[in-house]
Amino acid sequence: MSGSKYEYVKKYELPDPLMLGTYMVFRLDGHSFHRYVSDMIDWDLHDTTVCFRFSDEHEFIKPNDLRALELMDRAAKALMEEYPDIVLAFGESDEYSFLLRKSTSLYNRRQAKIVSTLTSLFTSNYVFHWPKYFPEKPLQYPPSFDGRIVLYPTVKEVKDYFAWRQADTHINNLYNTTFWALVQQGGQTTTEAHATLRETVSKDKNEILFSRFGINYNEIIPRYRKGSVFVRTEIEDNVVVNSDNQNQPAKEHTEEKVEVDSDNQGEPKEHIEDEQKSARELVLKKRLERKEKKKKTKNPPTKLELLHCDVIKDEFWAKYPQILEE
Ligand code: ATP
Ligand code: ATP
Ligand code: MG
Ligand code: MG
Ligand code: MG
Ligand code: MG
Repeated sequence: MSGSKYEYVKKYELPDPLMLGTYMVFRLDGHSFHRYVSDMIDWDLHDTTVCFRFSDEHEFIKPNDLRALELMDRAAKALMEEYPDIVLAFGESDEYSFLLRKSTSLYNRRQAKIVSTLTSLFTSNYVFHWPKYFPEKPLQYPPSFDGRIVLYPTVKEVKDYFAWRQADTHINNLYNTTFWALVQQGGQTTTEAHATLRETVSKDKNEILFSRFGINYNEIIPRYRKGSVFVRTEIEDNVVVNSDNQNQPAKEHTEEKVEVDSDNQGEPKEHIEDEQKSARELVLKKRLERKEKKKKTKNPPTKLELLHCDVIKDEFWAKYPQILEE
């Protein structure tokens, strides 16, 4: 197909490959999910500049709305089902991080293609599944997420990346849990609660929670304290998988050249219909066998596990060595 005289504009598109032999971490984050104005402004003032944002508009329960977190997990699972090269994911609040295996050739490692497609698929799943998690609260407006990819050269940075996110989860959750206890149970205004917590360290917050509100921080559900961790593990042969689309789809997203199937070229020339039929069936059967074999070696069947475990200690990486394999 020859192009038009306008086609030269295509040449202005620049390649944006992500370096080979590096780990890709894709992170997305909800756009303006928290209150727009600073929490320092007292709600009671009814300041006209107060501008509500997603979590307020949709009445997220503070400090942790379980429905919202489960919806994030649902969208993350959809991404991992669609992209077998995502081997690990970590979620907290309105963000999720995904690790792609080192040797991935997803979309020929084109940055914009990967970031835009993954961000868009996550967002559409978030919207698609919204009514199941918020049956009483229809979406007030279409939410959006930002997305980015950061490349890491070695396993050290990859481990430290996930440790960084989980440490962040802990710091935020301890702060938010104490803050909202002071407001909801302690009767403080948000300004007062901020003031109470100013210059406190973790130990002080644990103490406030325990002595004033009888809350033992370590007994708060792990999902809130540790975030969500999806790991992809291989299914052993002959193990029957129990439904709930745990199996990854066979779909390939690489832009490899499609191999021409030679069996497909000629039709049997016999006149007898039966013979034609059985020959065709044999061809189809062989093709299917080849496909299955290819699938097995390239993409062995896997399942996704949702955990709320520690990813900072080395035990996690020792338990799932396949995550950091090529
Ligand atoms: P940006 O657009 O820059 O990401 P943002 O307003 O989304 O800004 P974040 O730093 O991403 O700010 O913070 C997200 C905020 O959304 C949290 O601080 C919290 O207030 C709210 N939020 C997200 N998920 C939940 C949840 N499950 N339960 C309660 N609040 C939540
Ligand atoms: P890629 O994922 O690389 O974009 P693609 O399969 O989406 O691949 P495009 O080059 O974007 O390929 O082509 C989009 C195709 O979608 C069109 O060629 C056409 O077949 C189909 N399509 C899109 N919009 C319409 C429409 N409104 N009516 C009918 N067909 C459409
Ligand atoms: Mg942010
Ligand atoms: Mg956000
Ligand atoms: Mg965030
Ligand atoms: Mg297209």
